[in-house]
Amino acid sequence: MTFTALIKYSIDLIAVLLLALGIKGLSKVRSAREANRLAAIAIGLAAIGVIINSLGSDGVSIDALIWILLGTILGGSLGMITAKKVPMTAMPETVALFNGCGGMSSLLVAIAVALFPVKTGSEEIVSGLVEDISIAISVFVGGITFSGSIIAMAKLQGWLSTPKWMQSKLRHAINSAFALLALIAVIELLKGGINGLWLLLIGSILLGIGVTLPIGGADMPVVISLLNSYSGVAASAAGFVVGSQLLIVAGAMVGAAGLILTQVMCDGMNRSLVSVLFGGALGAGAVGVGGDKGGEYINITSCTAEECALTLEAAERVVIVPGYGLAVAQAQHTLREVTRALEAGGIEVNYAIHPVAGRMPGHMNVLLAEADVPYEQLKEMDVINPEFPATDVVLVLGANDVVNPQAKSNQNSPLYGMPVLDVQEARTVFVVKRGMSAGYSGIKNDLFELDNTSMVFGDAKKVLGDLLVELKELGVGRKG
Ligand code: NDP
Repeated sequence: MTFTALIKYSIDLIAVLLLALGIKGLSKVRSAREANRLAAIAIGLAAIGVIINSLGSDGVSIDALIWILLGTILGGSLGMITAKKVPMTAMPETVALFNGCGGMSSLLVAIAVALFPVKTGSEEIVSGLVEDISIAISVFVGGITFSGSIIAMAKLQGWLSTPKWMQSKLRHAINSAFALLALIAVIELLKGGINGLWLLLIGSILLGIGVTLPIGGADMPVVISLLNSYSGVAASAAGFVVGSQLLIVAGAMVGAAGLILTQVMCDGMNRSLVSVLFGGALGAGAVGVGGDKGGEYINITSCTAEECALTLEAAERVVIVPGYGLAVAQAQHTLREVTRALEAGGIEVNYAIHPVAGRMPGHMNVLLAEADVPYEQLKEMDVINPEFPATDVVLVLGANDVVNPQAKSNQNSPLYGMPVLDVQEARTVFVVKRGMSAGYSGIKNDLFELDNTSMVFGDAKKVLGDLLVELKELGVGRKG
């Protein structure tokens, strides 16, 4: 082993450890920021390791090194700019795009090795059947991940909707044909035919499109999480292709983490993965944008921010329920000012976090962390649900589906079975939203018609701003 290879392996080992620590830290809100940095450092180190190793290998030219450096700088800068600019509400689309890039990279690496077999020194990196199988997996999974992620991103952006013919049962036959094409291509590739490679590329890209296109809007973030897992599998296979232990391990970790997240999301929405993947937009009981509106509302009580402030002033325990609308309104900082005033007035404030509130798991945690909400005040659904009967006021901010009692009371509801926050158990519920529009599921919310519920109509940021003014006028939180 050369000296540079030794350095590379040491760097790889450190990078793998940092990545493992990073992924572990991401599971806790408190450590997530640090963990993300650790994981980014790990990937940076990995790139440095590759460059150092290339310096020590005979076959690598200065030109190749320049390409590696250019790719690293360009890709890194684009990633950084995108991550800084993207609003929280567009995070699922961004993750989809990044997954797509991951899948594309893996398949390009595999194609490059298939066309121009790589050697370092005298040692061929991978040989024979292992190489061919790794190339096949990398191209197949990478192709599905790439095209599926681009479709997912386009659907979430509203650039694309499911064509009618893709909603019929015909899509299963079409996708089976694409899968068969990919299988024939793999056999051809393993027999040594390079045409199999191109056929596999086409088959997997078509399969990615065919599988993702029919999936309903509400299920799309689940699919993105699954595609994230696929991008890990593709990267791991690419690791076998180029003989990089680091890529194998990192890819496997991403693959496993993505699968776990997919399961968490399915549980949070009470959907099975099979119904997400094969139910499509028309699947039985599928939850999707623009579904049944569930009829008109009768008996709605609404009030002003002033009346809401008066009730809050008299409360001892308040629970905030953040939802997608809070993120849309970017009202987290104003909310924090309101809760600071309540706390200063001796009122206990907690935040009820539903696992799928917003548009991706952890969405609300990140949003509230941005506004310096103390982590210990964020209560998960299982913890906060038994506390609602002892709560004076619940303030629902731009949330809808996650507080819909139909999920427990109406067996015919598409939401039936989805775990929800039992806010109706509290003494008074205020729901802040702009109008009576449905949530992501597209169905009516029975909470809005209950006697202890009052709607406070308006943009969440505006209403919270008004609430703050009213609380100040009432002297809530004023010392002395
Ligand atoms: P919902 O999408 O159910 O409801 C959001 C509500 O916010 C709407 O009813 C809307 O009503 C209101 N709103 C929008 N903009 C504003 C604004 N500026 N000010 C005030 N209110 C506003 O959100 P939830 O968070 O309750 O539920 C998330 C939904 O997304 C669930 O159905 C979940 O299954 C789904 N989902 C979540 C995933 C996840 O992983 N987190 C993944 C996939 C889907 P109005 O227009 O009247 O203001």
